[in-house]
Amino acid sequence: MIFNTHTHFNFILKNPVCPIANTDYLEKFKRQDLQEILIQNKEYWIGFCCIVWSNELSSENALEVAKMDKSFYCTLWLHPEDHQEEELLNKIDSIIENFEKLIQKNKQKIIGIWEIGLDYHYLDEENEIHKNRQKEIQKIFFERQIKLANKYNLPVIIHSRDSKADTFKCLKKFVPNKFVVHCYSENLEFAKQIIELSPNSFIGFAGMITYKNAENIREVIKNIPLKRILVETDDPFLAPQEFRWQTNYPAYVKLVLDKVKELREENAEIVENTIWQNSLNFFNLKTPQI
Ligand SMILES: [Zn+2]
Repeated sequence: MIFNTHTHFNFILKNPVCPIANTDYLEKFKRQDLQEILIQNKEYWIGFCCIVWSNELSSENALEVAKMDKSFYCTLWLHPEDHQEEELLNKIDSIIENFEKLIQKNKQKIIGIWEIGLDYHYLDEENEIHKNRQKEIQKIFFERQIKLANKYNLPVIIHSRDSKADTFKCLKKFVPNKFVVHCYSENLEFAKQIIELSPNSFIGFAGMITYKNAENIREVIKNIPLKRILVETDDPFLAPQEFRWQTNYPAYVKLVLDKVKELREENAEIVENTIWQNSLNFFNLKTPQI
């Protein structure tokens, strides 16, 4: 059985209970209705999906979607690139308070805090002082979210873009109880550092590992302990090679797992079972009765 530890299929649902984002970058993806998603998941032997939830600042609502099926869970989401300005920092207490209320009310469905971390991709390159302040604000949010996760013993997903060194420093300083660096695209050396940092750290791999130019990521898969591997799709983006440039669906996590099986020395069944168990342990869940 397979656990998709990071999906955004709420972005492409045809008839969502709540409005979905109407942004241009989502326009190119093919919409599906929930039944189609469920049928496909069953066909590909997907046991659980963790839907990454956008916060109150955007219009998607994965919690509502997570409630639609017993195989769905979700996380709270405050993406680093969305919170690097002063006006959001002023609201930090109310944002965290709101998250806390949601966690308390939805313990059955909210199983983590994702995706938090540092993203230095959209910083103000024209103004050094503002740029540094943006980095500082991201770090403040990072710390507060880790504290919140630790308080409720929830795992966190780490998003890191153009910020490897600072992300590592923050992880060392704020120490999440459990964390995964998701959609991994860094080198083996960084992966080893992450693994050494905590016995409860994981690396999440997505469709990218099937791309021709992703030899560096495949090296990571071959050389880290199986016990630290999780799989995901990060859909509707980044479809595996077979469906490259098309809509990525949560069931395609099977193609990611197949690639991991091909790369590992252990037999395929051991790889699948270990990764399944890793995911359950990570989210503090039990095997579903399917
Ligand atoms: Zn994502």
